[in-house]
Amino acid sequence: AATLNSLVAWLHGFAALVAANRDHLTELDSAIGDADHGSNLDRGMTAVVAALDAQPATDTADLFKRTGMALISNVGGASGPLFGTFFLRLGGALGASSSVSSLELASALRAGVSGVTVRGKAELGDKTMLDVLVPALDAWDAAPDPGDVAGAARAAAEAAAAARDATAPLVAHKGRASYLGERSAGHLDPGAASTALLFRALAEALE
Ligand code: ADP
Ligand code: MG
Ligand code: MG
Repeated sequence: AATLNSLVAWLHGFAALVAANRDHLTELDSAIGDADHGSNLDRGMTAVVAALDAQPATDTADLFKRTGMALISNVGGASGPLFGTFFLRLGGALGASSSVSSLELASALRAGVSGVTVRGKAELGDKTMLDVLVPALDAWDAAPDPGDVAGAARAAAEAAAAARDATAPLVAHKGRASYLGERSAGHLDPGAASTALLFRALAEALE
């Protein structure tokens, strides 16, 4: 099972990875967007950590709802409302728990992904964060022991890294990168790269 503390550690770990990769994420966005993805997400996750430090989360619903709201209110770009919706749905699906099983976490993560789909209306292959979210959760579900949360998260993180790399040849059909048409091919999607960090942080927090 994943404890509340390990899920708090996930968010802290993600914030740290985003800060360390801030310039890289912004560089990816400079190739096919407006060069702000690293600074957008770093601002958002810094606000999340500040909110959680000021008032520790009481349960999983509180943790992820406040995370989602901090992202939505502090990130101006497309990624803020999308990651924000992901966490709001996650919190809604988990409810007020202090520990969640691997299966509960998997199904809550799915609810998060469906929130991103409803909000962003992207399809698989559109070269967005969805192209990492979906394969990562498919790998979670396909892990040999779905009750082993550490193993499932590790499988998801590995699939997420591969899925991030697989966005390079795609032509973008959603977001700013879609304005480039065919010229968006040949570059990693910035949101796919940050989503791979999200799963890496989850695997590291649950190991
Ligand atoms: P902006 O494009 O507003 O500057 P960011 O640079 O922070 O916002 O985030 C860009 C990322 O957001 C893209 O790389 C992509 O992964 C993701 N994205 C953009 N639009 C959508 C969408 N409609 N659905 C899913 N993800 C999207
Ligand atoms: Mg941008
Ligand atoms: Mg922008």
